[in-house]
Amino acid sequence: MQQLKSFLCGRWQSGADPQTVLHDATTGAAIAQTSSRGLDLGAALRHGRAVGGPALRQLSFAQRGEILGQLASVLVTHRDHLLDLSGRNMGTTRGDGKFDIDGASGTLAYYAKLGQTLGDRTWLADGEQVQFSRSKRFVGQHIWSPRRGIAVHINAFNFPAWNLCEKLACALLAGMPVLAKPGTATAIVSVRIVELWQEAGLLPDGALQLLVGSAGDLLDHLGPQDCVVFTGSGSTGQQIRSHPQVLRYNVPVNVEADSINATVLGPDIAPGSDVWTMFLAEVVREITQKAGQKCTAIRRVLVPSAVADEVQAELVARLQDARVGDPAVQGTAVGPVAGPAQKRDVVAGLQNLALHAQLVWQAADVPADGCFVATSLFRTDAGAAAEYVHDHEVFGPAATLLPYAGSADEAVDIVARAGGCLATSVFSDDAAWAGHVVLGVAPYTGRVYWGSSKVFDQGTGHGAVMPALVHGGPGKAGGGEELGGERGLRFYWQRTAIQGDTQLLRGLVG
Ligand code: NAP
Repeated sequence: MQQLKSFLCGRWQSGADPQTVLHDATTGAAIAQTSSRGLDLGAALRHGRAVGGPALRQLSFAQRGEILGQLASVLVTHRDHLLDLSGRNMGTTRGDGKFDIDGASGTLAYYAKLGQTLGDRTWLADGEQVQFSRSKRFVGQHIWSPRRGIAVHINAFNFPAWNLCEKLACALLAGMPVLAKPGTATAIVSVRIVELWQEAGLLPDGALQLLVGSAGDLLDHLGPQDCVVFTGSGSTGQQIRSHPQVLRYNVPVNVEADSINATVLGPDIAPGSDVWTMFLAEVVREITQKAGQKCTAIRRVLVPSAVADEVQAELVARLQDARVGDPAVQGTAVGPVAGPAQKRDVVAGLQNLALHAQLVWQAADVPADGCFVATSLFRTDAGAAAEYVHDHEVFGPAATLLPYAGSADEAVDIVARAGGCLATSVFSDDAAWAGHVVLGVAPYTGRVYWGSSKVFDQGTGHGAVMPALVHGGPGKAGGGEELGGERGLRFYWQRTAIQGDTQLLRGLVG
């Protein structure tokens, strides 16, 4: 069985027994094991701060960007190999694997380009000089400078490549070293990526360390210049936020957590129209892609009551064509969920959902072995009053239809009921109605996707996270924000107001 090691303090290290076992999601067979027990995580954080930080900070944005570009190229070169590993560990179809691996290289490449744009500087000014009196001599100027600690990245199991790279791209370009911890169940792809980067010798010493296995006492070693970026469940996010060392030093913590995302079909959209077709395709993709294990996936489908039966029939027809099975077999649309623990969670979630909404369709002939889960469509007429549907994210191939009367206010109330989402989509050509919904859901959502006949042939889709746009959501979605172009770097910087003589400050900040 493969032994997965951690890359800490410049070398690959194994932890002591007992080991955590990783599975082939398709067969359920044990394929790898790992442990972080006994590893000196305090030394790893010190190594990042003392060795990786200074090495990165002496590089300009352009130089850091160049490294990111090379990291992206390695992923492109080894794409097929990484797709195979993803299929073996997580049971992803080829298309689902690409969503992760290509998303990872694309995000690195985006930030590589941003590095070139920011150029030869090592830090940035924030805004213009501020004048305080009639004299222009004494002014203030805000600057951003990289924190002197280490960025701890704790990632979820569902995107072992993208999650690693989207966080890493921002931190490295900002000038902060990283210790990344992938979700253990699917860590094989993350480990291989770091191995490939190490073999290529692209990163300065200490700039990236990888912890595989449990987080152990990692957070006990956090210091006042460190930060934590987390993706995963709301409950773990709360544990991290309330960790004594985080509270002691006010360590910044960014959380991306559970999100019960919604899509809204406008009452103006006629059956059979382009937008109608786009809406149905989007819902089916969001239910089936990566077996529904996407933080941005659509979980709640709001449709006008007048067309609810028609939408349901068309969705069922399309979902019937999306075969659940072995991802290696051509034509399979839905693979297994990522591991036995994830299967247990999703099955329990589906059982609870069935207590509060009607199960209107479920996939048949789903393999009994491995980690397969039947694709499921639920429906409830309870709108915002529905229980469980708005409260619990079932992280698998399932969604719930929610018929509503067609008013924009009602749609906003239902979307808002989840207490904060990463992504909401609205499908309508009625600018006034849709504008009301878009602005109405905006305070509850990190990203709103407006599908209309003007963009039906070119939209990027509800679930795709674009590096140029922020990713995160308020309230239950974690209250965090990642990416968004240069905005994604700011989490890793301290903003300082400097006051002094105009010319001296100009000499300092350029
Ligand atoms: P999780 O159990 O919260 O785990 C996420 C990450 O946190 C993993 O790397 C995990 O390590 C680590 N972790 C667990 N306990 C920790 C602790 N006390 N201190 C530090 N790190 C800790 O979440 P998950 O199993 O990945 O997913 C569970 C649910 O989270 C899903 O069902 C879904 O609802 C939600 N989720 C949300 C997103 C999003 O982007 N919003 C993405 C994925 C999942 P181990 O793997 O070693 O346990």
